[in-house]
Amino acid sequence: MKEKLIRFMYGRYGIDSLCRFTLIAGLVSMLLAGWNDSMLLSLLSWACIILTYFRMFSRNIYKRSAENQWYLNKTYKLRSAFYRQKNLLIQRRTHHIYKCPSCRQKIRIPRGKGRIEIRCPKCSATFIKKS
Ligand SMILES: [Zn+2]
Repeated sequence: MKEKLIRFMYGRYGIDSLCRFTLIAGLVSMLLAGWNDSMLLSLLSWACIILTYFRMFSRNIYKRSAENQWYLNKTYKLRSAFYRQKNLLIQRRTHHIYKCPSCRQKIRIPRGKGRIEIRCPKCSATFIKKS
């Protein structure tokens, strides 16, 4: 069964970021269509899901990867803003982020060091905080 699938997918495009996006968009609009009883949303969800499968099984790999690249370029700013927020959340577990009182520069201090004097790397003002 698995070998059959592998043979079937040979030379076909497979899943990429745009596929994941259209699949999720399709599922979300299907849920919303179920809620609102909206014909338009359920059409949209089917369109997304059919598009996902079409792109997954497509043999025109060059064109599909160009579409994916276009999608990645269009969403670059959004994705990088998202990753920055996510990184900040991870850093907040191990670090405090303080603002320098005189120049507003953000300064990252590791947690759990007690009361420490912090020197701003930008304007070299010092201030005392608990880390
Ligand atoms: Zn400063």
